[in-house]
Amino acid sequence: MTFRIKKGLSIFALVSIIGYCNGQENEQNSMNNPLLSEWNGPYEGVPAFDKMKIEYVKPAIRKGMELHLAEIDKISENSEEATFENTIIPMEKAGEELDRAFTYYGIYSSNVSSPEFREVQKELAPEISEFSSKISQNEKLFNRIKTVYERSQKEPLSPARQRVIDLIYEDFAMQGAELSKKDKERYAAINKELSALYTQFSTNVLADEENYVIYLDADQLGGLPESYIKSAAQAAADRGNDGKYAVTNTRSSMDPFLTYSTEREIREQVWKNYYSRGDNGDEYDNNEIVKQILKLRDERVELLGYDNYAQWRLQNRMAKNPENAMDLMMKVWPAALARVEEEVKDMQKIADSQDANITIKPWDYRFYAEKVRKEKYDLDSEEVKQYLELGNLTQALFYTAGELFNFNFTPVEEGSVPVFHEDVKVWEVTIKDSGDLIGLWYLDPYARQGKRSGAWATTYRSYNELMGGKPVLSSNNSNFIEPAPGEPVLVSWDDAETFFHEFGHALHFLSADIEYPTLNSGVRDYTEFQSQLLERWLSTDKVINQFLRHHETNEVIPDELVRKIKKASTFNQGFATIEFLASAIMDMKYHTTDPENIDPDTFERETLKELNMPEEIVMRHRTPHFGHVFSGEGYATGYYGYLWADVLTSDAAEAFAKAPEGFYDKEMASKLVKYLFAPRNAMDPAEAYKKFRGRDAKIDALMRDRGFPVPEENQ
Ligand SMILES: [Zn+2]
Repeated sequence: MTFRIKKGLSIFALVSIIGYCNGQENEQNSMNNPLLSEWNGPYEGVPAFDKMKIEYVKPAIRKGMELHLAEIDKISENSEEATFENTIIPMEKAGEELDRAFTYYGIYSSNVSSPEFREVQKELAPEISEFSSKISQNEKLFNRIKTVYERSQKEPLSPARQRVIDLIYEDFAMQGAELSKKDKERYAAINKELSALYTQFSTNVLADEENYVIYLDADQLGGLPESYIKSAAQAAADRGNDGKYAVTNTRSSMDPFLTYSTEREIREQVWKNYYSRGDNGDEYDNNEIVKQILKLRDERVELLGYDNYAQWRLQNRMAKNPENAMDLMMKVWPAALARVEEEVKDMQKIADSQDANITIKPWDYRFYAEKVRKEKYDLDSEEVKQYLELGNLTQALFYTAGELFNFNFTPVEEGSVPVFHEDVKVWEVTIKDSGDLIGLWYLDPYARQGKRSGAWATTYRSYNELMGGKPVLSSNNSNFIEPAPGEPVLVSWDDAETFFHEFGHALHFLSADIEYPTLNSGVRDYTEFQSQLLERWLSTDKVINQFLRHHETNEVIPDELVRKIKKASTFNQGFATIEFLASAIMDMKYHTTDPENIDPDTFERETLKELNMPEEIVMRHRTPHFGHVFSGEGYATGYYGYLWADVLTSDAAEAFAKAPEGFYDKEMASKLVKYLFAPRNAMDPAEAYKKFRGRDAKIDALMRDRGFPVPEENQ
């Protein structure tokens, strides 16, 4: 997942991520507020993470918005005829202070959140939404944009400028700039309501993640790996329960527990806690919120003349419309269903052979899948982990970046660049041969309280020529379990892939070569592609031989084990594909169905039934905690994008595999950088892909990668 709240994404994206107010307090010291100040120090300035204080956040965001609006007013009140120079360029430059304030806001909301910050967030969310509406509904501003746009339709601008004006015009039109005054008011009111609901939704999920912790005794640890037990003991101690072992209600704790624990009843409880987040019928229940969100979204796009939210949302995506997205998903669904049936049979067989006397339930899937993996693929995840040490993997990232992008990573001197937590490490990124500076890479590796779960990438400063081409400040964030002192961090194969994935986003930021900030924006069903593709380098021979080494003996991971890992890559693809697709299809169904007829609980159950959802599997994200879709709009009707991007990924990876020098083919690498990474959104994604591949993407390689039969029509 990527996560950005700053410019480069349209200003409107702010609404979706952030959460209300009235305030006058703190106006006095806003100009010497460190969160607004220009960035000083090395690398043409870096964020002053060492000066962050929560009390600065509200006044900084408020002042930042005020300054940005003043700049926008100046642009819209200009009496000269609108041109790219006097309208679009100053728009692109506006909001520097606010961008800086949002950098810190992003850190507080994702990396070091607290109940205190969540209050700030709640208070600011509606103000931010209002701010954003003030820009998107500024009639004078839109008229100027329209003038520039319409003229460009007769007298085209340079390709970069044309792309900028096209994107900006479309964005405004999609946000209701052409609505009547009355409709605009309603539109803004809806956005304000929505932003409060989004915040409430994610706050509820977080509450359920923090409130449900299961404490185990020493005699309940059967099957669990040593590393899990150690961190569970630490997690219990952190919560004041020394001597116990905590299973927290997060994916990184739930997943391994369900995979290894022999305590079936506790597995069931852990499973229920996790998949009931936001669905407990108490003050944190999200069902009613989902209903309201769907109604408001539907009402909003109706104002704009669309049949449903999905139709509105997908018009500027690579998929173009909900039909294309559904079509792709339904092509893959039957093959995945058939595979699940085989997987369950394999698992049931093992359970029967052990006289377990059970029918496979959802809380048994991971546990027996692991046994099948061992039997059929003879692959022991714990053994694999011994060769996946975080430091080595980090070096593997740098090596890959060196080979493909010609980048070099050097650690900066400790203390020379401020960080928001002592665990965060920083590297300088330069061009290998010339030594030219590209930027910095921050890594925040470990899980902690107040940090959101999962892994993500973001930038504190993106590259563009207009603002002087300053060094990119990119960051990766993970939730590896912090080891006891002196112990190595050993990660699973999946987590190692995710580590490469997020680094792919960082490389996408670092390699940007564009003129205007707007061209940094991402196309939702396309931006995951670059990072998914980068995952493929983890299993290349060069990475394996140099970096996948035993943490104690430094021995290279044995060929036999690698062969097994590769063979196992199609393992459990039924489960993985179905749990993902069920969520992606539900996302699309929610936004193509009249919300008057939706009661989330019933709707989820009935839709899954119609799809023949196997009862042994649950959606990867059930509705009441589907944050991608309901804690903002970033991924709403966009969850399918991972599969869309997967099609591109498999297709592009096959091109590398077939190149003369394989994954390290220099010509392919230069095309990769030139067409797929550096242009970001400066080129239409479909066009850029075609330039890279010489044709459109096909679904065949994806089906092969998952071990599914290739549909006949494609053969
Ligand atoms: Zn991602």
